[in-house]
Amino acid sequence: MEDSLIHKALREKLIEELRTKGISDEKVLQAMLQVPRHFFCFDSALAQQAYINKAFPIESGQTISQPHTVALQSQLLEIQGNEKVLEIGTGSGYQSAILYKMGAKVYSIERQRTLYIQVKKLFQDLHYQIHTILGDGFKGMPQDAPFDRIIITAAAPFIPTELLQQLKIGGILVSPLKNGDKQEMVKLKKLSDTQFEQTLHGECTFVPMLQGISNQ
Ligand code: SAH
Repeated sequence: MEDSLIHKALREKLIEELRTKGISDEKVLQAMLQVPRHFFCFDSALAQQAYINKAFPIESGQTISQPHTVALQSQLLEIQGNEKVLEIGTGSGYQSAILYKMGAKVYSIERQRTLYIQVKKLFQDLHYQIHTILGDGFKGMPQDAPFDRIIITAAAPFIPTELLQQLKIGGILVSPLKNGDKQEMVKLKKLSDTQFEQTLHGECTFVPMLQGISNQ
């Protein structure tokens, strides 16, 4: 796939829109300017929509998150560069790519086999060094823990204890959390092994976080 001047111009426009919507972290905006989102759409017919601020379908009945949502979650993570970040829900790989371009060391888990295989190849083709595994995000990645940051990109019914344990003290976890019929963006800061500071960052819409691996 090609990244043309037209794509770059569309990204610049999108970045300006994100600024007006309250995204101020320059690292986030610069990463979003660099990463060709249309590479992560899989379907070339959909690639035309890549720079509209919308979520849309990818393989296995999943979605690529809306650019504003990716920007918001990335901003809430307060990445300085070099942090070790665990992502639950690789999906299209776009969110991982943004964090990687922000300088983070990214580890990402996906439960859908088809998506996992597709994204692994895409990262190889793009020479993005992102560690991906097929697994159940409820369990995290104990073999590579602890992490400075954890980001969940599917609607969590609760924040799994395993993930809280795999977060370093002083670390940040960001996740959409189910609250009745709604979902809210939650940010947790780990103050000690047992204490967390929680802040809320608005309503959001994500596909559900599900248990186990799927061979689809
Ligand atoms: N970060 C993605 C968003 C994809 S949608 C992007 O930038 O495109 C959420 C993804 O979470 C889906 O691909 C879904 O299969 C995955 N998912 C849901 N529950 C999961 C779990 N328990 N472990 C790992 N991945 C999960």
